[in-house]
Amino acid sequence: MPRAVYLQTYGCQMNERDSEEILGMLTAQGYAVAEREADADVILLNTCSVRAHAEERAFGKMGALQQLKRERPELVLGILGCMAKAQREEVFRRLPLVDLVAGPAEIYDLPDLLARVAERRQRDLPDPGAHVLAVDRAVRPLDRRPPADYRARGVSAFVTIMEGCDKRCAYCIVPTTRGQEVSRPLEEVLEEVQRLARAGYRQVVLLGQNVNAYGKRFPDGSGWRGPARRRQLLALGGGGPDAAPPVDVASEAGGEAAGAARLVDFPALLRALDAKTAIERIRFTTSHPFDAHEELFRAMADCRAVCEFLHLPVQSGSDRMLRAMRRGYTAAAYEAKIARLRALVPDVALSTDIIVGFPGETDADFEATVALMERVRYDSAFIFKYSPRPGTEAAGWVDDVPRAVKERRNQALLELQARIARETLAAWVGREVEVLVEERNRRGQLSGKTRRNTTVVFDGPDAIIGALVPVRVARATGTTLIGEVSAPVIESSSERSPA
Ligand code: SAM
Ligand code: SF4
Repeated sequence: MPRAVYLQTYGCQMNERDSEEILGMLTAQGYAVAEREADADVILLNTCSVRAHAEERAFGKMGALQQLKRERPELVLGILGCMAKAQREEVFRRLPLVDLVAGPAEIYDLPDLLARVAERRQRDLPDPGAHVLAVDRAVRPLDRRPPADYRARGVSAFVTIMEGCDKRCAYCIVPTTRGQEVSRPLEEVLEEVQRLARAGYRQVVLLGQNVNAYGKRFPDGSGWRGPARRRQLLALGGGGPDAAPPVDVASEAGGEAAGAARLVDFPALLRALDAKTAIERIRFTTSHPFDAHEELFRAMADCRAVCEFLHLPVQSGSDRMLRAMRRGYTAAAYEAKIARLRALVPDVALSTDIIVGFPGETDADFEATVALMERVRYDSAFIFKYSPRPGTEAAGWVDDVPRAVKERRNQALLELQARIARETLAAWVGREVEVLVEERNRRGQLSGKTRRNTTVVFDGPDAIIGALVPVRVARATGTTLIGEVSAPVIESSSERSPA
């Protein structure tokens, strides 16, 4: 029986958390975690399909691993995650020595799937067709989540609150690879965060492709989807999502909402975590702008533990492009939401994702994105060159923006964002910020994050790694604040209203 597993992760934070869950399951089955490929009996790649480049890296890596398998035929090779789902048999065609391909909805089956690989091997070796393919499930069965837990060490923990995505952005493969949205029950998330706080974690990062859809569909079929949601909002005195008052968290956590059927949405989850757990910092990603509204911003303003940071991917500043992308909002509607958020949460930090070179993007469309970035002044931005993904709506359109133009637009936005970030960070010099100390960096300095997610470096003893400390900012670079600890270790403070 194989006993040591090596797992490499590509892509987003959801994949990182999935990998932790996979290692949790396998270590509970008696596997050891190998630090190097050479020490492993099973090598798994947890892959990403969002852009072609991510897939090519995984294909390249597995190609090299096949060489290892030629030397050690007993080695088990597996491809998991989004690329497994998107490329299915293509993986076996290009990588004939791979034993197992399993999609994101099948991760909880992994111990069984590996057992099947072992069993087939015993019967069929050396038949190269003796592989296992498991990619057909539409929804991850969250109610079958195994109890085993495993986390990378640190001060911050990922907590997946929902899986899948029901949106249909024209460029995006995620709904195909990760399937339909399904949320973890509130009580389960509360219990996990409480447990993490007790174990010494000071921050959680709540994960979902669109966290604002939390509660829409639970594994038992309940949720606020469709007419039931509207009835609940009416029962709470709201006239629509933007007009709805904050949810009564105390009754929520008990499972009843003001006489109406059960209503648990994302703002209610934030309020419950803030009120009922000892966790000191809560972050979350990703918020789709269409579903981010007043209730969310009020919860961010009211909840002490929720950090003043929002990742709100705009994708483009051109309404024409936003329509083609099927994003469901205009640039003006997006900016109105940001204005409301900034009114409720002063000094909130904002980050975004932008795609350049989407089919049909003209110079004028691109300039609209530049103008939006100048107006919003994000604290950080991820800029992506459009990459056609087979199976998506946009893959059927001509990828008509030349590679050199995509490259030039990408570079221009990176430079613009770097300038804005430099100016924004310079304004923090002289102020005091609360830093969650994470580690000692390669230069020997302590490094941590402010509530606004800015990296701060400073000198100090190892003893304060994991603590929340006040730091006076002395200097700023384009990406980092440099400072010194301004008082002994504190339990908690806020940078919300700097002196
Ligand atoms: N669910 C999140 C949202 O809606 O904002 C993001 C998920 S996706 C994994 C992360 C980012 O990748 C997207 O926001 C988008 O900017 C980018 N992306 C997705 N598909 C892409 C494609 N085909 N080409 C280039 N970038 C893409
Ligand atoms: Fe992809 Fe859009 Fe879903 Fe985000 S919301 S995962 S970009 S389809």
